[in-house]
Amino acid sequence: MPTLVWDYLPEYHDEHDDILDAVETVFSSGRLVLGKSVSSFEAEFAGYHGVAHCVGVDNGTNAIRLALQAMGIGRGDEVITVANTAAPTVLAIDAVGATPVFVDVDPSTYLMNVEQVAAAITPRTRCLLPVHLYGQCVEMEPLRRLADKHDVLILEDCAQAHGARHHGTVAGSMGTAAAFSFYPTKVLGAYGDGGATITGDATIDANLRRHRYYGMEQRYYVVETPGHNCRLDEVQAEILRRKLRRLDQYVKGRQAVADRYAEALSGTDLVLPTTAEGNTHVYYVYVVRHPRRDEILDALKAHDIQLNISYPWPVHTMTGFAHLGYAEGSLPVTESVAKEIFSLPMYPSLPRETQDRVIEALRSVLSTI
Ligand SMILES: *Cc1c(COP(=O)(O)O)cnc(C)c1O
Repeated sequence: MPTLVWDYLPEYHDEHDDILDAVETVFSSGRLVLGKSVSSFEAEFAGYHGVAHCVGVDNGTNAIRLALQAMGIGRGDEVITVANTAAPTVLAIDAVGATPVFVDVDPSTYLMNVEQVAAAITPRTRCLLPVHLYGQCVEMEPLRRLADKHDVLILEDCAQAHGARHHGTVAGSMGTAAAFSFYPTKVLGAYGDGGATITGDATIDANLRRHRYYGMEQRYYVVETPGHNCRLDEVQAEILRRKLRRLDQYVKGRQAVADRYAEALSGTDLVLPTTAEGNTHVYYVYVVRHPRRDEILDALKAHDIQLNISYPWPVHTMTGFAHLGYAEGSLPVTESVAKEIFSLPMYPSLPRETQDRVIEALRSVLSTI
């Protein structure tokens, strides 16, 4: 068996009874869609973030898409974000007919370079979409000042930042709305797909509820604005309720793995992750950097270690986004880090022996290249 960057089976082994009890709870409840587990999870997830509303949806991509729609963003509008992100961030902007506008990233955190945002704002800008990538937050204060000054909205992409803190404030509570994914690998992951949008705004909440339910206020009611079917599954919601109680414990587990990597690899010429001032990093992924990345990854394969890159192709260089007109070289930091970054195995239940194997193999590969 090759060493995997992520594996849910150790966690399933530990939490087996609770997970199966969640399934039984839903199956015996008499209500399989939008029942008590979804509404309880929504209340608990909103409560965790100290915001008034949460709407559970079927995945993170739709959490972003419906949030944009619920905020009234569509054709002709510009949304400022980054190209160093998972493609779904940008696909969701595209799906509502808005235009993604990219700024570059910071070379040490790989997060949105907030100093470039002001210059990217035009009369058509309606929303800033910071991505709290890899598990730590974008610097929010300058974005909030800009949003206030130009009367634009903020949507936080929190798909990689469940439980992350920024100057003590939890990710997802610093914008107009925030979108989460519960894809199994995420810091709070379901046993299948899931997502949610949270907001303090009652109108956005009401819009989200309609958009996820065909555009209806309630069952068999009229469609005013055509919507979608993007409901969070009841079983996933019940599993997420159980796992939300353990979120801070999962984060501690990830931080312990990160500390171990940092200690064991500090003497090497790998560039290790840096945590920006005021941030608590939750390490969705542990991203390191080296100019000879491809050789290192190849050499690790001989040790039966297969690592990931998040992300090898910046979104603006993808064929499907060629129409946006970003030439190669237009986002120089994003493009150069994409050639050098890679991710080490990271999940809270990552066995100690696997950590040892990865550290030893990396140290040995690094000493020979
Ligand atoms: C995972 C992810 C998404 C999309 O979530 P899905 O549940 O896979 O649709 C969006 N943005 C970022 C930054 C992600 O990591």
